[in-house]
Parts: sequence; structure tokens; C-alpha cells
Amino acid sequence: MAIYPIRTFGDPVLRTAAVDVADEPESLERLVDDMLETMYEAPGVGLAAPQIGISKRLFVADIGEGPFVMVNPEILEVSGSWTFDEGCLSVPGYFWPIKRPGYAKARGVDIDGNEVVLEGEELMGRVLQHEIDHLNGMLLLERLSRRAKKQALRDIREHPLGLADRP
Ligand code: ZN
Repeated sequence: MAIYPIRTFGDPVLRTAAVDVADEPESLERLVDDMLETMYEAPGVGLAAPQIGISKRLFVADIGEGPFVMVNPEILEVSGSWTFDEGCLSVPGYFWPIKRPGYAKARGVDIDGNEVVLEGEELMGRVLQHEIDHLNGMLLLERLSRRAKKQALRDIREHPLGLADRP
């Protein structure tokens, strides 16, 4: 097991669409273990491979009900609307109220290639959308209104990575 450094805002890997995973289960198992360890250590509720510099389509998450992994996931369906103070391990220290669909359903596979369909409201729906955004090279800042994004970028510039004057 190993803890990876988490890539942060400004790193080009976070803006790059990741490629489909075609790895053998053995090597994926190791990567997933390392990603989970990195996520729990951070701590966070989700971590996508690009966040540790690996531009492949997989993520791990745990919303408090145990860890899960999705390989080559895609959103099948979203509905509703929910505003939530959303953060990201790649933009540490910052949270913004972000409006997204409240419900999401996604399909992918596990590390052995078995189909996995996951769905949920609120936090589960949010994690699925947030992590799959990462695989498409998109950070949560892109989900802010134009004006809020401008302010957020200004805040980040003034307080790099939110580490200044935050508990
Ligand atoms: Zn994130």
C-alpha cells in the first residue's frame, strides 16, 4: 500500500480527459488499494485516478457506507436539483455551494470487469457526478456560475489552495 501525493488545481492532468482502463485485475487491485489509502488519509469521500496523476477512468469513494470502486463509469441518468457545499481534495480548503442534479445513476465495472450500476440521491448522487467529472477533465469550479467562478479563482489566487488562514 502506498499513499500518493494528490495533484492540485493548476496541474494539467486535472484538465485532461482520462482514457478507458484496460489493466489486468491484479494491477488494478493494487492501484485501487493505494487510491483508497490515499483517500482515507486525506481524508476525503472520493478520489479519481487523475487526482494522483494517473489519467485513467476509475475512481474510489466511500460516503460512510464502505468503499467502492467504479472502472470506466458513465452517467446514465440524472434528475432533480440539489445545492450542496462541495469541496475537492484537489482544491483543498475550499467549499462552494454548487447546484447539481440531486439524483444520479452511473454504470461501470469493478476491477474484475463485472458490471456495476450505482445510484443515489444527495451525497451519493453528488459523488458519482463529481468523480466522473474528474475523469472528463473537469473540476468543480466548472460547475459554478460564471460570476461565482470568477470570485473563486480570485480567492484561490489570493489564498493559494485555501491553506492560508483556515483552520
Ligand atoms: Zn474532486
